[in-house]
Amino acid sequence: MSAPGPRAEAVIDLAAIRYNVGLLAGMAAASGAQAMVVVKADGYSHGAVPVARAALEAGAAWLGVCTLDEAMALRSAGITAPVLSWLHLPDEDFAPAVGAGIDLSVSSRAHLAAVLDGARRAGRPARLHLKIDTGLSRNGAQPADWPDLVDDAAKGAAEGACEVVAVWSHLAHADAPHHLVIDRQAERLNAAWQAVRERGLHPIRHLANSAATMTRPDLHFDLVRPGIAVYGLDPLDRPVADGPLRPAMTLRARVVLVKRVPAGEGVSYGHEWTTPHETTLALLPIGYADGVPRRLNRAGRMRVWLAGRSRPVVGRVCMDQIVVDCGDDPVTEGQTAVLFGPGDGGTPTAQEWAAELGTIHYEIVTGVRGRVRRTVV
Ligand code: PLP
Repeated sequence: MSAPGPRAEAVIDLAAIRYNVGLLAGMAAASGAQAMVVVKADGYSHGAVPVARAALEAGAAWLGVCTLDEAMALRSAGITAPVLSWLHLPDEDFAPAVGAGIDLSVSSRAHLAAVLDGARRAGRPARLHLKIDTGLSRNGAQPADWPDLVDDAAKGAAEGACEVVAVWSHLAHADAPHHLVIDRQAERLNAAWQAVRERGLHPIRHLANSAATMTRPDLHFDLVRPGIAVYGLDPLDRPVADGPLRPAMTLRARVVLVKRVPAGEGVSYGHEWTTPHETTLALLPIGYADGVPRRLNRAGRMRVWLAGRSRPVVGRVCMDQIVVDCGDDPVTEGQTAVLFGPGDGGTPTAQEWAAELGTIHYEIVTGVRGRVRRTVV
């Protein structure tokens, strides 16, 4: 007898991750670029360490994360590949990260001073990626502040406290591949890169996220930084069947209770749904505390795949539970329902949830949390 599965589970298909990374790294290689796979936010909730390992096996050369803690966790897991970390407070202690060989993004003179201080204490040069704000108005130095930042970095490099590894930026309209702002951002990146080269330094450039990796080979430069596409979710929001990627996460839950209920019974808080006739209800132990948004069933359109077919979730999504109407079909306790997955055979997808909620699939997969057990296969 096989061991019973957990109540709620996110199954991560590493073969899909490898497939997607192989595709993306191949696109990069065709332009002479390498691939940095973005594993921030615990690998978009897929598990940073297993995804990182699978990605490196499949052809990624770099890893990208947001925070120092995320970068150090990769090192603690024994991952020695280049890791870039990009969002820091200026008063963080950078010495451990420099000591661990983490590449650090720098967006201001204050950040640079703190990193150089860390490098001196670590007794090792910091590996810098100077970030220029080319038009997203988020992280990165303003073009007006660039000359001073470059000046400080060049002095740090001359003194042996740092190496300027890269000049980089992030796109505002990558999902609209022909948006004019993309070209303006690329021009600003090139100008910033040129200014660094004029100081006798030879950094690489990187700009492209998933969407630009897949649609703008002219912007691959030396390195691309795909995130969402690694997880098999299409950055251009094409239906799964029409795109080249394989979704890697399947969210599922096991039926904890089945019961026959007479006509006219209100179901879940507020009785927003009432049984129109006698029916069988199946209770799934997953709710908004686990990443099933309460708003998902606002219009009563949420469905799950259970016992061979798609079935409606009825009544409100609760913190820990949802109720599925199974009509007169035989459904048994312990059976597994798929909430979203790769979409094969009619199962719902994260993309469909996102469309229902007026959001993006990034928010759906990163929202899976709490008591949902992650199973990597
Ligand atoms: N680069 C940076 C700086 C990011 O913040 C992100 C994610 O938001 C990515 C790359 C990957 O973007 P995407 O998931 O759209 O491929």
